[in-house]
Order: sequence, then structure tokens, then C-alpha cells
Amino acid sequence: MQNKTWFERAIFFSWYCSRGDCKFCYMSTQKNRIKNPKLAKRKIESILAEAIISKACGWKIEFISGGYESYDIDELVFLAKHSSKITKQKQWLNIGALKKQELEKFKPHIEGVCGAVECINPKLHDKLCPSKPISEIIDMFKACDNLKLKKAITIIIGLGETEKDIPLLIDFIKKHKISRITFYALNPHKGTVFKKGPKTDYYVRWISAIREKFPKLYIIAGSWVNRLSEISNLLNAGADSITKFPSIKLFNSKYAKQIELQSAIAGRQFTGSLTKLPDIDWDKEVDQLDLDRELKSRIKTKLKQYLKQMKKY
Ligand code: SF4
Repeated sequence: MQNKTWFERAIFFSWYCSRGDCKFCYMSTQKNRIKNPKLAKRKIESILAEAIISKACGWKIEFISGGYESYDIDELVFLAKHSSKITKQKQWLNIGALKKQELEKFKPHIEGVCGAVECINPKLHDKLCPSKPISEIIDMFKACDNLKLKKAITIIIGLGETEKDIPLLIDFIKKHKISRITFYALNPHKGTVFKKGPKTDYYVRWISAIREKFPKLYIIAGSWVNRLSEISNLLNAGADSITKFPSIKLFNSKYAKQIELQSAIAGRQFTGSLTKLPDIDWDKEVDQLDLDRELKSRIKTKLKQYLKQMKKY
């Protein structure tokens, strides 16, 4: 069992998704409001500023993520390249089912690709994600094998699956040689049919069952601000790290402190920090990047905004 743990931040690049009809997803409540995908795009400087802060605070980038068809591939390759340069780590991508030719463009900058499986029960999956068939993810995984890229999946607990579905997940991990998995407890969004998340015990049993079968699998567990007291249980069940926390907005808040405390309760040393800003020259961090002057200046402006937010508590 790990004696360390850490926080993983997913970097989102857009709030638009062309599929937009997964029954639990926030994007499904926004699609009609966001007619123009370009308007839902986050700016490049915001994304790269977030990568700089993550590196400085010792957070790992869980993946670069966003809905289908919001950025074009070349823009995404640019983001993956520069995020990996900033963090000195190849990235994981979670941006929908990609074709082999698309994956080839990302290959120098990524460690692997994440397939958003969400629900392992096939019938339930097809109901919940009518426009996101598992077969597309499996095709992408075949291309990953070809390109020697690693594979990850995301699974949301609390969508109506039961523990009888755990063997399906075990088979899927074995069959597709998955090297990491992110579990989330469903966080019900207003405007969707879901009203509550799963009980902690039930969520924990999924993580324990998978850890028991796969001692070396990299397991990330998501919690949420209203469930932080479960984090020690998620770690004890076998999660390596924690995700799904607004770490910039709530930096050094009582919630951030609770995550560090929960890690200590589980007997893990928390690497990095959600509570102490590193004392570094932030402008210098930007100056050393291989980017044009104009973009660097926009990143500096964005960084100042984020850092101001992080000093709020
Ligand atoms: S494909 Fe992903 S982002 Fe799009 S609606 Fe489904 S879960 Fe949400």
C-alpha cells in the first residue's frame, strides 16, 4: 500500500460537447444555451496558467479534458505539448474517442488516453450515454495498442449500476489492459434526472474490489466538497490519489484543509499542497516558457487573477 498520496487536477479546455446528451452530465444541461462551441472554449492562457500553478503546488494533471468537438486537433496538440513542457510530464488525454491518425499527432506529448466509459453495465450505459458508444472507446484502445500508448478509463458510481456489475469492470480492465482508472461518486447536477450521489460504503466497495484484483493499477478517486469526510475511506480502500476538487477556487479553505487532514487520517503523507502557496517568482516561471511574448504576457495576467483567488482564504 502507498504511503503517499496527492491531488490530481483535471484541466478542462471547454464547456461544450457536441454529443451533449449523457443523462448525468453538466454539459447536457448547457448544450442548448451554448450554441457556439467557440464561445464555450477556455482561453489558452487560462489553461497554461493552470498547468503552471498545478506544477508549482505539486498537483498532478489527471488529464486534459473537454467535450467533443470544441477545440480543433491542432490547437489541442499545442495545449498538450505545452502542458507537458510546463509540468515536465507527458499528459493523459480525455477528449472523446480519437482515431489513430489523431492519436499519432498527440503521441510525442502524451502518456496515454482515457476512455470515458462512465458505466460498465452495457444496457444502462446505452441508456445513459446514447451518443457515446463503448465500441468507439474500444476502437480507440486498439489504436492505442498499435501506437504503444497507455489506456485509462473513468467510471462513475451511483448511476444505477449494482455490485453485481463489478465482475464486468474487472473483465474490462483485464481485457483492455487498462493501466489506470478514475472513479467518481456521482455528483448530481441540477437539470438532470439524478438527485443524489452514492453512499460512501457502496462507493468504497467498488474501489476495494478493484484494488484487490489489481494491486498495481493506478487508482484515482473523485470526491466532492460535500463528501470530503469519505476521503480517508477512499484511500484506505486502495485509491492512490484524489481528484475532483476546485483546488484554485477553494485553495487553503476549510475544505482544502480537510483533504490534507483526511490523507493524514489514512496514514498517507500528502505530497504537494492545497493550502500553502509556494514562494516562487511566477513571472520567471512564465518567462522561461518557449512561447511568444504576447501569449506569455496573457498568461502572466491570468496567473495574477488565479493567485489572487488562491489568497482569498
Ligand atoms: S460525451 Fe462526455 S462531455 Fe459530452 S455529454 Fe457525454 S459525458 Fe458529457
